Amino acid sequence: MGLLALGTALDWPDAKKAANQVREWGIEQLLTIWRKARVKERDALLWGDEIEYLVVAIDDEQKKVRLSLCQADVLKALAKDEALAEKDITVPDLQNGADHTGALPTFHPEFGRFMLEATPGKPWGIGFKDLLAVEDDMKLRRDIAKKHMDADQFPITLTTFPHLGLPDSLRPEYPPSGPALRSQFVPDEIANPHIRFPTLAANIRSRRERKVELNVPVFKDKNTPSPFNDPIVNYDLHKWPEDDDVRNGAAKQDCVYMDAMAFGMGSCCLQITFQAKNIREGRTLYDQLSPLGPIMLALTAATPIYKGFLVDTDVRWNQISRAVDDRTAEELGEKPLVNDRWRIPKSRYASNSTYIAQDPRLRPEYMDPNLIVNEELKAKLVDGGMDDLLATHFAHLFIRDPIVIFSEDLKELDPEGSNHFENIQSTNWQHMRFKPPPPGADIGWRVEFRSMEIQITDFENAAFAVFIVLITRAILSFDLNFYVPIPRTTENMETAHIRDAVMKEKFWFRKDPFPKRTPRQSPLQSPMLNGISEPPSLGGTSTPRNGTNGTSETCFGPVEEEYTQMSIDEIINGAQDGFPGLIPLVESYLDSVNIDVDTRCRLAVYLDLIRKRADGRLWTGSKWIREFVRKHPEYKGDSVVNDKVVYDLFEAVREIEKTEGRKKQRGWEMLSARERQKGLDD
Ligand code: GLU
Ligand code: MG
Repeated sequence: MGLLALGTALDWPDAKKAANQVREWGIEQLLTIWRKARVKERDALLWGDEIEYLVVAIDDEQKKVRLSLCQADVLKALAKDEALAEKDITVPDLQNGADHTGALPTFHPEFGRFMLEATPGKPWGIGFKDLLAVEDDMKLRRDIAKKHMDADQFPITLTTFPHLGLPDSLRPEYPPSGPALRSQFVPDEIANPHIRFPTLAANIRSRRERKVELNVPVFKDKNTPSPFNDPIVNYDLHKWPEDDDVRNGAAKQDCVYMDAMAFGMGSCCLQITFQAKNIREGRTLYDQLSPLGPIMLALTAATPIYKGFLVDTDVRWNQISRAVDDRTAEELGEKPLVNDRWRIPKSRYASNSTYIAQDPRLRPEYMDPNLIVNEELKAKLVDGGMDDLLATHFAHLFIRDPIVIFSEDLKELDPEGSNHFENIQSTNWQHMRFKPPPPGADIGWRVEFRSMEIQITDFENAAFAVFIVLITRAILSFDLNFYVPIPRTTENMETAHIRDAVMKEKFWFRKDPFPKRTPRQSPLQSPMLNGISEPPSLGGTSTPRNGTNGTSETCFGPVEEEYTQMSIDEIINGAQDGFPGLIPLVESYLDSVNIDVDTRCRLAVYLDLIRKRADGRLWTGSKWIREFVRKHPEYKGDSVVNDKVVYDLFEAVREIEKTEGRKKQRGWEMLSARERQKGLDD
C-alpha cells in the first residue's frame, strides 16, 4: 500500500462533503492520463515482485515472540545506509550464478508499524536469467532488512502474527482503545503513524458508523468448547460509542472476533506487477489473470491462526476485506436506501468485478450482472473518448468515496497530476489492479496480481513469482483464454478460504483454454504440446468472429458448457482428457522458446514446487502451521495457540528458512513428509 502526499487530512464528515469534487477531479486526471498514454508502447514486458514482512522481537529467555513496532527505525537505518543508496552495484552472493547487475532492493513502509515491504531495486526484465535472480534478490532483501534491525528482531514472512490482538504481544506495549481504531484489542500505535493510515482506519470506521467487524469461524478441535464464545472479548468497555458494538452482537458465536483495520491490513502478501507492452496487452493480462486469482490464493494458503486461536479457514483474504469494509448499513442492504445511492455487493478489498479487454472472446455473459457503476462519471469518460468497457471499469471503482482527503489538495486541480485519481484507485484493493502510467514517468500500463499469500521461505516466494510470470508469457504466446463468468471467480474466492481447499475443494475453471484456430495453426498439433491431451471442443452453434493475435474464429456455445468444476490439481497439473493444466502449458511455452538446459532445469525446480503443492505432495503453509500447532506437546486440542507454541513455531519457521538455503525445497519436503508420516502413525 503506497504512501500518498502528506498534508492536513480531513475527518470523515468533511471528507464526505469533498467526495464528489475528488471523484470529478480524479476522472479528469484519468482522462488526461489515458489520452496521453493510450498509444504508449514499451518494448518489453517488465515485472516486479513485492514481499511484505512482519517484524518480530524474539525473547529467548521468556520464550515469547512479540510484534516489534520498529518500522520507522528500520527504514531510517536503511535510508542512512549509503551503500544502499548507490545505483548500479552488483548484487553480491549470487548463489545461482545469474549475472544480475542492478540496483539494490528498496524498502517501503506498510500499514502496520510492525511491517516492511521490499521490492527489487529495478524491475525484472523479459530474460529468463532474471527469473533465476529473483530468489537471491529476495534473500538479499531479507538479509539487508535483518542487518538493519536489533539482534532480537527478525523479518518474517508469515501472513499474520498469531497473537495479534492479545495482551503483551507488542514491543513496545501500548494500551488499546485509542481514538482512531477504537479497538478493544489493539492500540492506535499499531498503525504506521503517517497520517494516511490512522485517517484511513478512522474514516472507514466513521463512514460505516461502527467498527469494522471480523468474525472468523474457530477451528473446532476435539476439546474446543461448543458453542465457542471468544473468551478475549470484553463486553464491559464504555470509553467510545463503538464499545457498544459487541453488546449489539458484533462478536458472533463460534467465531474469533476482531474489530480493527490492523487485523486485516496487518497481513502480508506476495504481489506481482507486470508492465505490458501497451494498453491492449495490459487489458488482456488483466482479464486472463483474473480467474487465476482464487486458484493462487488457495495454493498459497498460509493463514490458519487469528488472535491466538486456530481458525477454520486457511487464507487472509476475507479478513482484509472486512477490515477495510466502509459500507454503510444501507449499502450493505441492512436498511432501506435513504441516504446512500447503491447497495454495494463487495467491500473495497475484494475480488475484481470487471473484465476490460477488447477481445472478441469476451462474451457479455461473463460480465458481473450485479456490477454497480457510477453512471454520471462513466458518461464523462465516454464523452472524453474512452471506450465503454474501460469506462465501465473505472466508473465502477469510482462508486467509492475517497477516504483520506488532504485539504491542500482541494484548492486547485492539477490537471497533469494523478493524486485524485490515485485516491480512489489505490483504495480499491481488488485482486487484480489495472494501473495507468503515472504522469511524467517512463512507465507503461501495468497489471498487478494481488491475491497470493506470502510464503515462509524465499524459495517458495520465488517459485510463485516465477510461475505467475511464466504463465503470463504462456497466455500471451499461445493467446490462451481463461475467461469464466465473473461471479464464478467471486465464488471461487470464497471456496479458497475453506480449510485445505487445495486438496478438498473444486473450483470453476474454463475447460478449453486454447484459441479456436484453423487446424493448421492449432497449437495442439505443434510438437511443443506433445503430451497434452486435447480438451473437449465446445459444442453448440458457432458464431464466427475475428479473434485476437491470429485467432481466426471464435465458436460460441452455451456459456455453462465452457467451464466446469476442477480440483486445483487438475487446474495446475492437468486432467486426463480434460484441461491441459497450467504447468504443462508453461512447459510447452518453455519448449517453444530458446532456453538453455541449465536455465530450464533451474526453472523446473520452481515449477516442481507448484506442481507438488497442487497434488498434495507438499503442504500449504496453512496446513503445515496447523499441524505444527496440533502436534505440539503444549497444545490441548482446544484451538488455543499459546506463547510456547508460537515461540516454537517461529523457531521452526526461521529454521526452515535457514536450512532451506541451496537445498531448495528439500527441507520443506522432508518436513512435510515427516509430518505426514507422523499423521499416519498417530
Ligand atoms: N497487505 C495487503 C494484502 O495482504 C496488501 C496491501 C498492498 O496493497 O500493498 O493483500
Ligand atoms: Mg504492500
